[in-house]
Amino acid sequence: MARPETSNDPGSGLRDPFDSAQGRPNTGIYVHIPFCQAICNYCNFNRGLHDAGLRERYVDALVADIHNSADPTVAADTIFFGGGTPSLLEPAELRRIIQACRDSFTVAVDAEITIEANPESSSEEKLAAFRQAGANRLSVGVQSFDDEELRRLGRLHSSRAARHAVGSARQAGFDNVSLDLMMWLPGQRTADWLVSVETLIEQQPDHASLYLLEIYPNAPLRDEMARGGWSVAPDEDAAEMYLGGLARLDAAGFEQYEISNVARPSTRRSRHNLKYWQEGEWLGFGCGAHATFRGERWRTVSGTQDYIGKVSAGQDVRLDRRVLDEAERLEEALFMGLRLAEGLDLARLHQHHGLDIWARYGPDLTPYVSAGWLVHEPGRRLALTRNGMLLATDVMSVFIGGTVR
Ligand code: SF4
Repeated sequence: MARPETSNDPGSGLRDPFDSAQGRPNTGIYVHIPFCQAICNYCNFNRGLHDAGLRERYVDALVADIHNSADPTVAADTIFFGGGTPSLLEPAELRRIIQACRDSFTVAVDAEITIEANPESSSEEKLAAFRQAGANRLSVGVQSFDDEELRRLGRLHSSRAARHAVGSARQAGFDNVSLDLMMWLPGQRTADWLVSVETLIEQQPDHASLYLLEIYPNAPLRDEMARGGWSVAPDEDAAEMYLGGLARLDAAGFEQYEISNVARPSTRRSRHNLKYWQEGEWLGFGCGAHATFRGERWRTVSGTQDYIGKVSAGQDVRLDRRVLDEAERLEEALFMGLRLAEGLDLARLHQHHGLDIWARYGPDLTPYVSAGWLVHEPGRRLALTRNGMLLATDVMSVFIGGTVR
């Protein structure tokens, strides 16, 4: 997920992705690290158990893949290491991968370089080495500050370890720290959730992401819930958790800028993730990574060994490469843009897609405006209210079946 070499300070908030001096969208670089020390019982990400030898060969493949894709006309201003557990990388490996990106693309001097970390692999020494290696933003997978909730999820860390990781990050020199929390956990009541939110606030992060736990059909967590007699709270409680958590974050001075994300006002929004929500472009490296770049989309082979083997053999690791048609681009612009608190920029959509959103969808959207779920500022923007964010899927369904598809 990347961008242009124009000077973008890591904290500039929402930007128009089409604002680069070259007239091309800013680009991001996503790097997938598929290793974990243990597999959490709810996880369906592309990941596997950590093996040091495999990790070393994977990093060699990543570096080779990035070099094979070299194009100095690509101006990037974000690099995001996601996983899996990227903090299982050795700092020297992180440095190598960042250097490969800098050698291959025009990466801004002040690029936002994020590494996701789990508390159990985040010693102060290691975080300091990551910082030295070039990472300048840390995203910590806390998920909960309640030890029993963490145990139910199969997480390896404790609440204390999570709090310690934030302190270590600050000591290591990270001035841009994001914390992830999950709500609607098995056995979690609204009051429990709010304790986690308050504990998060006490850690004084720069950014936080609040996710609703989704338990996929065959997740081992389902069996464990049955055995343990744990259930998730009713739907109304999930809404209460969401609104209550955000109200506390508001009061603590955070600004919600996306359905699931808050940041210190105008300074610490995730520049990388904004590319997904603002019709940006990104390259993806590593197994299972996706890319949307210069009007095309593709994914990378999902198996770790397959990826290493194909890169080593000089074979193409990209699959399903295709040109995005206008209907897909517009649909994505509407669905992703409506996730932002600032909502859809109607003038920009008209400029880029030639569509007057209100003229096309106004009759179907008006009931949502009347119900207080949507705000419409004619000619300017269309945005979900916070209550509307709870019903985002319903509102977005208006865009399905019209001219978009
Ligand atoms: S640490 Fe994250 S990626 Fe790894 S198994 Fe747990 S949820 Fe999945």
